[in-house]
Amino acid sequence: MEYQVIIVGAGPAGIFAALTLAQAGIDRVLVIEQGRDLCDRQRSEDMLCGWGGAGAFSDGKLTLSPEVGGSLGDFIDTKSLYALLERADGIYVEHGAPDRMFGAMSPRIEDLADRARLADLELVPVRIRHIGTDNCRIVLDRLQKTLADRVEIRPRCQVQTLLVEHGRIRGVKLADGQILDSRFVIAAPGRSGASWMKGQAEALGLKTRASPVDIGVRVELPAVILKDITDTSYESKLIYYSKTFDDKVRTFCMNPYGEVVTEKNGEITTVNGHSYAERKSANTNFAILVSSAFTEPFDDPIAYGLYIARLANLLGKGAIIQRLGDLLAGRRSNHARIARCLTRPTLAEAIPGDLSFVFPYRLLLSIIEMLQALEKLAPGVYSRHTLLYGVEVKFYSNRIHVSREMETEVANLFAIGDGAGITRGLLQASVSGIMAGEAVASRFRQ
Ligand SMILES: Cc1cc2nc3c(=O)[nH]c(=O)nc-3n(C[C@H](O)[C@H](O)[C@H](O)COP(=O)(O)OP(=O)(O)OC[C@H]3O[C@@H](n4cnc5c(N)ncnc54)[C@H](O)[C@@H]3O)c2cc1C
Repeated sequence: MEYQVIIVGAGPAGIFAALTLAQAGIDRVLVIEQGRDLCDRQRSEDMLCGWGGAGAFSDGKLTLSPEVGGSLGDFIDTKSLYALLERADGIYVEHGAPDRMFGAMSPRIEDLADRARLADLELVPVRIRHIGTDNCRIVLDRLQKTLADRVEIRPRCQVQTLLVEHGRIRGVKLADGQILDSRFVIAAPGRSGASWMKGQAEALGLKTRASPVDIGVRVELPAVILKDITDTSYESKLIYYSKTFDDKVRTFCMNPYGEVVTEKNGEITTVNGHSYAERKSANTNFAILVSSAFTEPFDDPIAYGLYIARLANLLGKGAIIQRLGDLLAGRRSNHARIARCLTRPTLAEAIPGDLSFVFPYRLLLSIIEMLQALEKLAPGVYSRHTLLYGVEVKFYSNRIHVSREMETEVANLFAIGDGAGITRGLLQASVSGIMAGEAVASRFRQ
């Protein structure tokens, strides 16, 4: 065999798989990455592809929680998962991530969790290490240097096909037609490679399952209303099960003193939020997302999410903004009403409109019920002057069926990270790499 292990994709999942194999002394490991080397990457051109994958221009928030950023808890017990999250986090720190950790359990957080419970909400306490976008490049560069003499890295090289013989992986075919033999292949193609992964899974007859789509709104209100919460915990994750539909509704990506922004997803415009170190607004924004899953005859949550986003764009010619008071009174917002709103919008380009034309009853009611629950925890959230921007949508890759070791139904073919639909964040993606790396290394010892 030319190679012992080929890793497809140099995002956090692929990098941590390579590190684990190198530490175990496995030689002839090749990392193939379709994007550019880190030093040649430009945010505007290759945001998702290249050394570091989607992590390179990310915010670099490492979330040390089994419940956030992936589903690895479905494969290993909570204690072992915590240990692996700590281990991956330690590797980031060794390579330059800041020492400071936010969100450690404290009496204030415990008190917040108790008050959340009284409001029918579950506070998921999360510890976060914030690398920051600028530092991400430094950390990823150091990780590459650690690996440089121990594994082969090929940037600007795309894997076209996974080659399988008699139910066992035997290598890969590259886009230029070259065939590389390998005893093991670890596929870590990320969200940008999700459709490629889906195609390969179909061709190989691998079992997959559609992941739920998360659809909702970006909420904006004066920062003082949530100050108690945002001062207490760096990032609050609050979960609610809607009264009427029992749907899982959650807050996501809370940005104290931040700004609402639009995001282009192909032809579709959606909303998101940021907070900047140097620029502070008077508002806090966060998303309220409702998870929707389907069974049959329709099981394409991504198509459903795109449909809702397209509908918002059709009606609003882009992002829509509405005062909560207008939504509840059954009327659209217009420029005059937004001008009278006590919450000053930070996203000027959003068009005043009516979100009740966009969201199905089920989603709209779940969002309203969540706002009512939040009102009990932070009075002022359910104000007429709270602004809602639509729509925010989070798509996730189809989930590939893998074993506890991350091995697919094809022997010696492993699938990890966001592209396999198993993770959604930097740290769990990294841990999935460690898990696959360890499983492969253990086979060499057998
Ligand atoms: C703007 C932004 C901000 C984010 N902020 C955070 C954050 O603060 N905290 C957090 O936890 N997460 C964050 N994320 C998510 C995080 O970046 C991802 O969860 C993580 O990078 C997933 O790692 P991965 O290795 O599975 O995939 P990726 O990082 O997507 O890497 C996959 C790599 O595989 C390559 N590839 C794909 N197909 C092929 C092929 N056929 N041949 C060769 N190479 C291939 C791709 O080019 C890519 O480089 C953010 C994401 C974005 C986009």
